[in-house]
Amino acid sequence: MLPFKLIYSDGYFLPIGQHVFPAEKYRLVRDRLLETGVARVEDFVMPTPATDENILLVHTSEYVRKLKTGTLSPQEELLLELPYSEALVGAFWLAAGGSILAAEHALKDGVALNIGGGFHHAFADHGEGFCMIHDVAIAIRRMQRDGKIRTAMSVDCDVHQGNGTAAIFGGTKGIGGPLGGPLPSSAPGTLHRENMAESARDNDVFTISLHQENNYPAIKPPSSIDINLPDGTGDDDYLAWLDNALSSGLRQMQPDLICYVAGADPYRDDQLGGLALSIEGLKKRDELVFRMARTRRIPIMTAYAGGYAKKLEDTVTIHSNTVVAAKEVFV
Ligand SMILES: [Zn+2]
Repeated sequence: MLPFKLIYSDGYFLPIGQHVFPAEKYRLVRDRLLETGVARVEDFVMPTPATDENILLVHTSEYVRKLKTGTLSPQEELLLELPYSEALVGAFWLAAGGSILAAEHALKDGVALNIGGGFHHAFADHGEGFCMIHDVAIAIRRMQRDGKIRTAMSVDCDVHQGNGTAAIFGGTKGIGGPLGGPLPSSAPGTLHRENMAESARDNDVFTISLHQENNYPAIKPPSSIDINLPDGTGDDDYLAWLDNALSSGLRQMQPDLICYVAGADPYRDDQLGGLALSIEGLKKRDELVFRMARTRRIPIMTAYAGGYAKKLEDTVTIHSNTVVAAKEVFV
């Protein structure tokens, strides 16, 4: 049995018909973990849907009302890029419940993984980019409300910038200053930005996003640390930037919880991504994040976010490897 929990429900399936988002990936990851002996049935914990009260810790009452009553405007539905249905709302509420449960288990066991979630493009008042509500932000706010944590750090490694995360926790800016270590060899066009703010002491959620610069979202609200990577960035450069961003972030804040958004779409064969990581490189990425958390004794929860590999089995392999990496680091 694993020394940590995997949060999963068949209800994670998104009823969205033929879509570039592989809605069945969650079940396939679970099956792969069982088939390969990485996990056993008893390692999985089933979530219950988040309550509306929990959703309202992050989202506006107006937006939640529209979702519950099926009254999104056509424009809002277009921005979401998913066909609205009541069942879809249920799947997202469940994913949020899963991230809450993952955060709770992470605080107990040091690490926990939601085999779902990571909907980092959702804003307080609207959804976009396949993300209806922001399950990870909801989990953070719920842990804070329960007095279980004071501060958190979001580490977003999806190929797309975590615009919803940045906007929701927008008050939180890195305190800036030069990076301590030597910078990795920076490819042309790479922009590293840390935002200065005087009010860093009041900040409670620090946001790090490593993403492809020339990709959705066109407008990128500032995270505490944004690493805007050039097209075609490969394993070595990516891992160097990640190591640097984590070290810099953790010099600025020792959070009570890390939320790792482990997108599978920085993969070189991804349909919606333009970075060039290998499957092995992505596993090293996961190991790096987990090792950093373990070394510093910071609890870490993981959610999956995107993954649109030309071959679905590659997306399943990348997501499954995140659990393998956790097992290697935490067992
Ligand atoms: Zn993505």
